[in-house]
Parts: sequence; C-alpha cells; structure tokens
Amino acid sequence: MERQFVVVGGDAAGMSAASKAKRDDPETDVVVFERGEWVSYAACGMPYYVAGVVDDLDDLVTITPEEFRSERGIDVRTGREVTEIDPERNRVTVSDGDETDEQSYDDLLLATGAHAVRPPIDGLDRDGVYVIHDMADARAIREAIDGDGEPPRSAGILGGGYVGVEMAEAFAERGLDVHLFEMLEHVLDPFGAETASVVEDHLREQGVDLRLGTAITGFGGDDRVERVETETDSVPVDVVVVGAGVAPNADLAAEAGIEVGPIGAVATDEYGRTSEANVYAAGDCAEARHVVTGEPTHVPLALTANRAGRAIGATVAGTPTPVGDVAGTAIVKAFDLEVARTGVLDHETAREAGFDPVTATITDRSRAHYYPGGAEITVTLTADRESERVLGASVVGADRAGKRIDAVAAALHAGATVTELERFDLAYAPPFSPVWDPVLTAARVLDGRLDDE
Ligand SMILES: Cc1cc2nc3c(=O)[nH]c(=O)nc-3n(C[C@H](O)[C@H](O)[C@H](O)COP(=O)(O)OP(=O)(O)OC[C@H]3O[C@@H](n4cnc5c(N)ncnc54)[C@H](O)[C@@H]3O)c2cc1C
Repeated sequence: MERQFVVVGGDAAGMSAASKAKRDDPETDVVVFERGEWVSYAACGMPYYVAGVVDDLDDLVTITPEEFRSERGIDVRTGREVTEIDPERNRVTVSDGDETDEQSYDDLLLATGAHAVRPPIDGLDRDGVYVIHDMADARAIREAIDGDGEPPRSAGILGGGYVGVEMAEAFAERGLDVHLFEMLEHVLDPFGAETASVVEDHLREQGVDLRLGTAITGFGGDDRVERVETETDSVPVDVVVVGAGVAPNADLAAEAGIEVGPIGAVATDEYGRTSEANVYAAGDCAEARHVVTGEPTHVPLALTANRAGRAIGATVAGTPTPVGDVAGTAIVKAFDLEVARTGVLDHETAREAGFDPVTATITDRSRAHYYPGGAEITVTLTADRESERVLGASVVGADRAGKRIDAVAAALHAGATVTELERFDLAYAPPFSPVWDPVLTAARVLDGRLDDE
C-alpha cells in the first residue's frame, strides 16, 4: 500500500506541506482534512477585502480544493474536522458534522492554526461585534457594511495590534468614524515605543480617535452593539472588531498526549517533529525556534507557516529538511506609513535571554535629499553590548520604509555584529535612498554608542 500522509488543516502550513510532499514523492497518498469550506486562502488579505481594495472574497483563494484534487493529485476533503488522534494506532477520527470516520496515517501533520482570543468582556456576543480570523468573519464584516441594512457610521476596535491597526484603516477607507482602544500605553507593542509613537501621531492625523491606556469594559446595547464602554466613557458605535491576539489550536495534540510547550503551542524539533516521531506540527499551532534567543517561541505569521509546511513536506517525502528559525519579522501598513520589526527589541526580553541591550534610534530621509518625493524614515536598532551582535530593529516611515527591515532580518540570520551590518553593501540610487541607507546610518550610530559606553 502507498504511504499515507495526512494533514489536518488546509491553509498555509497544511497545503504547503501537502503540495511539497506530493510533488517530491508522487507515490505518497496525501489526504488533507479541512473543517471549513476554503483551503489555501490568504487571511492576511482580509482587512483589504473589508476595505474594498480586494473586490471578491474568492480573490483571496490561491488554489481551490478542486484544483488541488485535479491538478496536484491531493485528496482535499473540506467540511471535515479531525476530532481525535490515536498515535498508537496511527489513526485520526474525522467528523463531517453528522457522521464520524477513521483515517490511518504513516505521517501526520497538525496544521490547525490558531484562534482569535475572545476576552471575557460583557456584551462580546452582541450582534455587530466581530473578530476577524477566518474568511467567514471577513464576509460577515463586509456584509455589515455593504448589506441591505442601515450602513454603520462608526466603528470601535479593541486592540492596537497589527490587526487592529489594519482594521482601523479598512473602516476609515469605508468612511466610518474609527475609535481604537488599546489598554497598553502604545499601539503595536512588539514594534517598540519609538516606532509606535510615530504610528500613533499618524493615526490621529488620519482622524482615528485613539485611546491609549484604555481598557474596554463592555459592549452596550440591546441585541446589537450600540456603545463601547470604558471605565470613564461610553462611545457610540455601530460595529466592533475585537483584535485581542490569537492562541494556538493545540487541544487536539494535547488530548492525544502530544507535548504542548509552555507558550501553549505544540512543541516541535528543528524538523517540525512533535513528541510523536511520525507526527509533525507547523504554522500558528506550533512552536518555532527564535534565531536570536535560540529558544522556542510562537510566531503566528504566514511565512513561518508556509516555510515550515514546505520543509515538512520535503521531510515526509524523504529529504529531511529543517523548518528554519524565525526572527519575528513583521510588516504592517498603517494608512500612509509602513511599519516593520524583526528580532528582539524589547530590553526586558533581551535581558531574559542573557543579553545586555543597547539601542539607537535615528531619523533620516528615504531618498537623496535633492530627489523629490522622499519621506522621513525612523530606524531603531538594538544590539548586545558585549558581543555587539545585532538583536533586533524596527522601522517606520513612508516611501518603501518597511521592507528595509529585511536587511536587518538577514543580519540576524547571519548572527552579524553591528559593525558587520554597517558594512553591508546595500543598494543606492537617489530615487531610492541616500548613499548611506537609514539602516546603515542606524548601525553606525549604534556602533558609536557601543564604543562610547
Ligand atoms: C486578519 C489577519 C491578517 C493577517 N495578516 C498577516 C500578514 O499581513 N502577514 C503575515 O505574515 N501573517 C498575517 N496573518 C497571519 C497568517 O494568516 C497566519 O499566520 C497563517 O494563516 C497561519 O497559517 P496556518 O496554516 O498555520 O493556520 P491557518 O491559516 O489558521 O489554517 C489552519 C486551518 O486549519 C483548520 N482546522 C483547524 N482545526 C482543524 C481540525 N481539527 N480539523 C480540520 N481542520 C482544522 C482551520 O479551519 C484552518 O483553515 C494574518 C492573520 C489574520 C487573521
């Protein structure tokens, strides 16, 4: 009988693994169970669908289940939830909502993703309060704006993480007044205070009513949400999006006795293998190793999922392939600003990992000073005092500021020092950057600071 590779979850990690395994070893029988109706969809594009930048929800789908079946020979079964794993018998139990069935496997991949956190707040279940995590959420939010009912005029957003910031822009694009509530002192906490302050000024300039250090205590109204309540205020809203972060879907693994790490994600080794040798985990449900700290971490981002899935597909097909370390590199559009981060920025986390962090922040132009159309870019760079190794960075600005973070991400993967980063040969021509790109200038300033202190 052919080898059976069974995948639970049909999005980034799952379909990358399924496709790679089938391509590398066409003899393998690849079966994917997806409990929803979509596979291989771009959750990252959902805020832009709500904004109206993307017309059709189906535009977010890369390959349909039918195409996977007919063009790639992968047995994709939608509307099928895996409810149990029996690692001793190498079998999973699958439910279609009415009936259950069993499926055997030689290798199993858990690519079950994460779920949106729903904080215990009064009124969270009122109509008009949404999370945005799967395609059905995106469709429901867009229908709330474009449907037959009275269109909403005002939106409340819980959380100033990247989803909250993207949704603020999406609602503003659709002409809604936006109130964004963040209980911490800054939005985009993982991007650092220097970067967040620039974003906050910009959000306010764009008309967002930004309330920092403000926790939402309830969502008031009758059946439908009508108000966001805080300790001190009651703000009228017609629609709410809750962006309180995500948590890994690791219960299936835990119930089967597969190890789940302290972060709550499925524990994996460098090949994505779990505590069961023929069971793998990848993407938002799994741990990954941080390139700076060397410790397990949880980075629920798309490339992490796609990369790990692809590597596991290769491993299962016979070529052991490490899933690769993560740096937590992320980029967000906030109206006219590009905001990006990588590595370890926050000093407390750096100290916990055994580093002595030193940081420099510089602001420079995005293009040669004489070339029209330039904008300010702020780069914050952190390094370890003793080893001078680059630990992390954030970048904020317009005019292609964001992807500049990739140079620092490359430095992190290479384990480069600040002096080595300063000597990187980055591209220059007047329309694109000053001779010394702002990343190089930040490295030079930080190098000087390390020498002085
Ligand atoms: C609004 C939004 C914007 C985002 N923007 C970005 C971005 O700009 N950049 C970025 O890098 N990342 C972004 N992300 C994150 C990115 O989408 C995820 O990191 C990525 O989708 C993770 O892929 P995954 O395959 O691990 O999990 P998922 O995409 O969550 O897929 C898991 C799948 O498993 C299925 N499933 C779960 N349990 C079972 C079961 N028991 N049986 C069968 N099926 C099951 C689920 O239905 C789901 O389809 C965004 C996410 C959201 C929600």
